[in-house]
Parts: sequence; structure tokens; C-alpha cells
Amino acid sequence: MSPDTPPASAEARCGTRLEVLFDELAELSGQRNAIDGRIVEIAAEIARDELWGATGARSVAALVAWKTGTSPSNAHTIATVAHRLEEFPRCARGMREGRLSLDQVGVIAERAGAGSDEHYAQLAGVATVGQLRTAVKMEPRPEPGPRPDPRPAITRSSNAELDVWRIALPQTESAMFDAALQSHLDALIAEWSHDRDSNSATPDNPPPMPTQLDAFLSLVEAGWDSEAQRRPHGQRTTLVVHLDVEQQIGALHLGPLLRESERQYLTCDATCEVWFERAGEVIGCGRSTRTISRRLRRALEHRDHCCVVPGCGATRALHAHHIRHWEDGGATELANLALLCPFHHRLHHRGIITITGPAGRLLVTDHEGRTLHTGSLARPPRTSPPAVPPCPGPTGERADWWWYQPFQPQAPPSTN
Ligand SMILES: [Zn+2]
Ligand SMILES: [Zn+2]
Repeated sequence: MSPDTPPASAEARCGTRLEVLFDELAELSGQRNAIDGRIVEIAAEIARDELWGATGARSVAALVAWKTGTSPSNAHTIATVAHRLEEFPRCARGMREGRLSLDQVGVIAERAGAGSDEHYAQLAGVATVGQLRTAVKMEPRPEPGPRPDPRPAITRSSNAELDVWRIALPQTESAMFDAALQSHLDALIAEWSHDRDSNSATPDNPPPMPTQLDAFLSLVEAGWDSEAQRRPHGQRTTLVVHLDVEQQIGALHLGPLLRESERQYLTCDATCEVWFERAGEVIGCGRSTRTISRRLRRALEHRDHCCVVPGCGATRALHAHHIRHWEDGGATELANLALLCPFHHRLHHRGIITITGPAGRLLVTDHEGRTLHTGSLARPPRTSPPAVPPCPGPTGERADWWWYQPFQPQAPPSTN
């Protein structure tokens, strides 16, 4: 733009350019809504006929995220709408015709009451996603029944600086916890005052008086120490498995025989101690060779990052899986190991997915033998975009909630 262009004409040109771009946005939005509408229908078909189980995916949402390469939250919205598609035929039609967006219908499918299809299909024609959310919230909800008994649980959340643990206990256990905490606190305070009294010269920086938190940590340490003493090898949850090397039969120590899948699952990476036996005689303990050393584990985590099953991406509580099973002579080395989440590890040993190596060229197939690929299915389109009118979006006019009539759920038909 030359500096001597009169500002008025620059503004005008800017306005025309925006108009052209907005036109295109409207057209693309319409097409996108229609495409999302079809994606939702496909997800609904996969969910209805339970086709997703065969792929090794955890859920319809996980499958959608994997195959379309979208975020988990977008996939969750798609799965939510798919789940209630039959309840909201008008909203679904709005998407297919390019008028309503996935996010609009997603808000409706998430919480709107049964039988509200017509009400919200109409409202969504003018209301933004935020306004729809408010409208759905204004729906009268049935009186909450008696609250379910709070369940005992330990939960953890994290903020930037601290991990926050919440412990909900039944009252009897809580009393026990309280007493244990108090006894540790008393002991710590006794120790602290003894130290203070015996140090005649007051230090410049006296240690602070022990708190409940110190008592709690002391309690944890004491529990940990006694546990370590009880099981000197430090495997706090060790499972002992006896394995007959000739007949390849495994049994839990003082317990039942293991199924083949269970035996292989456990001897991959579960914290267990395996005793080789031949003709009932113990011939050795395979822990040193089978167990994944800390070093190897680090190297494996560094290489695989997450569960190696395409589309999974889980990063927590991963197991090291022997690609060629250790019983069959597979070595405990990097080339024969792959990280798997517990879900996929079990799925593999139950024969629902197969994993073959070497680790560098891993081949994962579903239970019909189709290879699973990591990437999404996205490719350049071969068909023309859906022929739908442009979608300028909801009018988004200021909502006057005073006059808005929330959807009234119908009382269920009485049976007598
Ligand atoms: Zn395994
Ligand atoms: Zn996985």
C-alpha cells in the first residue's frame, strides 16, 4: 500500500477483502458442518455395531481421535453426538445440511434432556455454542435423589508447585489414621523438644515445631521401612510363579495353574518372581535374565516414549513386553522389547491384537490380521465437497434469557 493512498479507500478495500474472505469462510463452514455430520454418522455406525473392539482401540472416541488425527476433546464431542444420534435426528440433519456445527450439537448431546431435539434444533439455528450451553443448563433437572454415600478414595491432582492428595476414608479407618498420625506427631514433638532442651545454647536457626504433615511423612516412612524389612529384596508386590520349562505350565505360588495367556502376560514384565522347574525340581530363578533392568527400561522408554500400539499413545504404567516371548527363547534386550500399556498388553496376550518384531519394524495387527498404522486416515479428497449452502454461523444476537423458555422434560408416562 503506498503511503499516499487516501485512508478512506484503503478502508473500503479492506472491507471488500474481508467480505470475500467471510464468504469463503461461510461456504467452508457449511461444508465442514456437513462433513462433521457424516463423520458422526460413521462413528455412530461403528459404535452401534461394536466394530471398534476389533481394532484394539479403547473406545469409540479413541478410535476417532486416532483415525481422524483430531484432539481427544474433539473426538470426545464426535463420540458424544454419535452416542445420541438417534435421539436428535433434527440436530443431526442440521449438521448434514451444513447449518449446525459439531460443537453446537456437541453441547446439546452432552446434557440436553430426552425429547428435546426439536427445541434445541430450533434454538441452535440462532444460538452460539456458549448460549446453547447456558440454555441446556437452564433445563429443570430432576430433584437429586439422596446423595450416594461418598466413596472412600485417594485422589491426586497437581498444580504448578504442589501435588495435592485428597484422602476420603470411612469413619472407622479415619479414626485409625487419626490415631496413627497423632502418635507420630507426639513422638516427633517429644523428640523435637528433647533436642531443644538438651541444646543449652540456643541455635540461631532452631528447627520449626513438627507439623501434621511431618507426622504423615513419618508414618509413610515407618510403613515403608517395615515393609522393606519384611521383604528384603524390596519387591513390594511380588508375585511368585512356578514354571515347568518342559511342559510350559505355570502356576501361581500356592495358587492355581495359569492360563497360557496369563502366564505369558505375567512373565513379560509384571513384578513377579519366576522359578524354573523341571520334573518338579527347581532348576533356577529366571529373574536376573527376564527382568528388565532399570537401565534397559530407561533405554526402552527413551526409544518408544509411549505404548507402541498405533493410536494409543498411553504414557503411564507401561509394561515392557517381550516381542518374542521370553519362554520361547526371546532375549531381554532392546530389539526384543516394546512398551505397551496394560490394556494393550492384555489385549495382545489374549490374542486380540498381534505384535511382531523386531522392535525397529514393529508390525501390529488387529484380530482379523489387518495391519494397524499410526497415522490418521486423512488424505487428499477424491470426492467433491458436500453441496450445502454456506453457513454464516448462528446470528449470535444478544440472548435475552428473561424471555427464554427452557426445555421442559416430559414426565415419563405413568404405567397404571
Ligand atoms: Zn507381553
Ligand atoms: Zn496402549
